[in-house]
Amino acid sequence: METIKATIITCSNCGFDQFFDLSKKFKVCPSCSHAIVMRTASGSELKDIKDNMKLDGVVTKELAYSDYRTYSLTVEEIRELKKLAREKKKAAASKAYKLHGGKKPMRLLS
Ligand SMILES: [Zn+2]
Repeated sequence: METIKATIITCSNCGFDQFFDLSKKFKVCPSCSHAIVMRTASGSELKDIKDNMKLDGVVTKELAYSDYRTYSLTVEEIRELKKLAREKKKAAASKAYKLHGGKKPMRLLS
C-alpha cells in the first residue's frame, strides 16, 4: 500500500497526536490550545518562537513540549488524523478552557 511520510508530534500537555510542519517552529494544539514547541529548542530559539507567536497573533502563553517522530502513513491514516484534529478543534472551541476530559490520546500504528 502506498504510504506518505508524516511528522507527528504529541502535545505534552494533553497527549494529542497531530501533524507538524518542520518548517514551522511551533504549533498551537487543537485540543488544549497550548503552543507546542520542540523539546530540543534552546533558550534563544524559545525567545524567537515567542516573538513569532506575537507576530502570528497567537495569544497562548502556555507552552507544551514534544519530540517529533516520522511515520509512514497510508492516505487513510492521514485522513483519519486530520479528521480527528478538526473534531478536536471544534470540541475545544465549544468547551472553552475545558481540557481533554481525561480521554486517552489516539494510538498510532498500534
Ligand atoms: Zn494539547
